[in-house]
Amino acid sequence: MRYSGLQVLAQGLLGNRGWTPAWRDPDPKPAYDILIIGGGGHGLATAFYLAKEHGLTNIAVLEKGYLGGGNVGRNTTIVRANYGLPGNSEFYSHSLKLWEQLESELNYNVMHSQRGIINLFHSDGQRDAYARRGNAMINQGDDAILLDNAGCRKLLPYLDYDQTRFPIYGGLYHPRGGTARHDAVAWGFARGADTRGVDLIQNCEVTGIDIENGAVTGVQTTRGAIKAKKVGIVVAGRSSQVAAMAGMRLPIESHVLQAFVTEGLKPCLDHVVTYGMGHFYVSQSDKGGLVFGGDLDFYASYAARGNLPMAEHVMEAGLTLMPMIGKAKVLRSWGGIMDMSPDGSPVIDKTHIDGLYLNCGWCYGGFKAVPGSGFSFAHLIATDRPHAPAARYRLDRFLTGRGLMDEEATGSQHNLH
Ligand SMILES: Cc1cc2nc3c(=O)[nH]c(=O)nc-3n(C[C@H](O)[C@H](O)[C@H](O)COP(=O)(O)OP(=O)(O)OC[C@H]3O[C@@H](n4cnc5c(N)ncnc54)[C@H](O)[C@@H]3O)c2cc1C
Repeated sequence: MRYSGLQVLAQGLLGNRGWTPAWRDPDPKPAYDILIIGGGGHGLATAFYLAKEHGLTNIAVLEKGYLGGGNVGRNTTIVRANYGLPGNSEFYSHSLKLWEQLESELNYNVMHSQRGIINLFHSDGQRDAYARRGNAMINQGDDAILLDNAGCRKLLPYLDYDQTRFPIYGGLYHPRGGTARHDAVAWGFARGADTRGVDLIQNCEVTGIDIENGAVTGVQTTRGAIKAKKVGIVVAGRSSQVAAMAGMRLPIESHVLQAFVTEGLKPCLDHVVTYGMGHFYVSQSDKGGLVFGGDLDFYASYAARGNLPMAEHVMEAGLTLMPMIGKAKVLRSWGGIMDMSPDGSPVIDKTHIDGLYLNCGWCYGGFKAVPGSGFSFAHLIATDRPHAPAARYRLDRFLTGRGLMDEEATGSQHNLH
């Protein structure tokens, strides 16, 4: 079924009885050409682009829970291309371009809203760093505007500019950045992949990876063994556990990241705003809730929930930056499991096992990467060659130390910053 305004009208007149399920619920077949482990944003996007760009459809996505139940449905939905380092810059630029055509490509409203992102800076040194990053963004063909204090006041009048410790000097404005509706992105890719013949198998946990003579031959699951010529691991916070099934020890740590949503308010925040002197960022959802978050919980865990000290820390940073937020009541909070890589940049690569591919290390920034990662991972799996914008996302950089991409210049343990 094709979605359109006319369809909404027609279904409304017919009592909404004609809508069909957005995807099938098939049983797994004994064998596929390609298996994708993980039905999050990246896994579903990979299956979609394998089918759409490479004409490969004998594919199954194996998801241990339900589609969109992982981080893709738990994040704070910021979409941007404001990276400065070669490697990241071209990848996120490509991903943002895919976002800009996603809704028509998927025939699905993912509520992509390019409302602009403003990263605030609070010192001369930070202004220099943001100016450099803005220039890199412009060189990459993306957009960046360096705002001074007056420029920020015009766009963000509600901030506390003269706060005692960290007065706001200005901000780096990325007008094409914004937000999208997180689970709609999963649903849109799921529907697009299913329509092209991909089997989406839910409640199907992969429990083992079969390898013979150095090549992958299939997987063991809670719904039986499934054979495959190629297998892609794309399980975000569970990357180390699933890779261990193939005897691999990844340089990935799993950490909790929390998010918070307030009660619905009248529109008061037009942009996404990030604090430059504390871990706090905020936007307003279409339902009116202020959606905000901050830092990791600072200990490795597989629990998809956070703890109070970090909640308090995030609230404090929010109140420092925009005291008006203190009047809003927090309605909900939750956590997701982040796959933290040592340099804060991801991996899209082949493994040393023939036919086994790895996509992980997205840390707390993998939502905006969903289309780009799916596109590049599909290219790698289909052609056995890296896709140019993701060519630097090699796993062996952590072994050799060559080609590390420490975007935030925070040192060798990204999860500690
Ligand atoms: C609170 C929070 C805020 C965030 N904010 C942002 C943001 O603003 N912008 C941004 O770009 N990024 C953000 N992120 C990061 C982003 O959500 C993740 O990097 C990204 O979603 C990870 O990729 P994914 O969607 O494929 O992961 P997931 O949705 O977690 O998908 C992985 C899937 O693999 C499945 N799986 C695991 N093990 C197995 C197995 N053995 N067998 C079968 N299936 C398995 C899981 O059930 C899961 O569904 C945020 C994350 C959180 C938690």
